[in-house]
Amino acid sequence: MSIAENVGYYLDKIKSGNSFGESVTLVAATKTRTAQEINEAIAAGITDIGENKVQEFREKYDLVHGGRRHFIGHLQTNKVKYLIGKTCLIHSLDRDELAEELAVRSQRAGVVTNVLIEVNIGCELSKSGYSLNEAYAAYERVRGMQGLKVCGFMAMLPLSDDSVLLARLADEMRALYDRARAHDGDIRHLSMGMSGDWELCLAHGANMIRLGTAIFGSRESLSKGSDLRRDS
Ligand SMILES: *Cc1c(COP(=O)(O)O)cnc(C)c1O
Repeated sequence: MSIAENVGYYLDKIKSGNSFGESVTLVAATKTRTAQEINEAIAAGITDIGENKVQEFREKYDLVHGGRRHFIGHLQTNKVKYLIGKTCLIHSLDRDELAEELAVRSQRAGVVTNVLIEVNIGCELSKSGYSLNEAYAAYERVRGMQGLKVCGFMAMLPLSDDSVLLARLADEMRALYDRARAHDGDIRHLSMGMSGDWELCLAHGANMIRLGTAIFGSRESLSKGSDLRRDS
């Protein structure tokens, strides 16, 4: 299927909203994709795109036409300056030091940066983010910082076939989100769900999903293809 066909397919899948009756935002995860591929997705109806490396974000910034720009990857403090004023939402606020740098730079530039608190919901060493136990206090600290607006939470579920476990983790994220949302009108995004688990996430209360391979195809297809050719 072409990029345009995939975009049409997934936009159609999410148009009825999540299981909580909320509308769902599809963010195309564009790492390793060319500006041309991203523009194809935008022409087909993608409204939001997310990069996960600052270098790629910068390289493609002017080559991509349209699309609200999200940042979804791990962000080094010394690269914050390249994103200030250029993102609609940073999903990966995973530590206080990063919050402080984002706040200082945003204030200096006279802008407010929208952020999500990233939660390491599966307690995985390979992933960053606050633990579920720390997340609410982190939200309250960041919420008090000038120059930042907390709009919700982000999580990546672990890779697992155990759908009972995944459902429980997703429910825990939704409970965290609801706790903050109960008294804070700025809270409106629960960013959770990738190509392998987006359906489960929508069924358990995510209202923003980030799809890469589902839209653009496998990132490994080229190297796998050449391996096959070598073998034969
Ligand atoms: C790459 C990426 C995605 C999308 O992953 P796919 O499995 O390709 O859909 C989502 N979120 C983040 C943070 C990513 O880096």
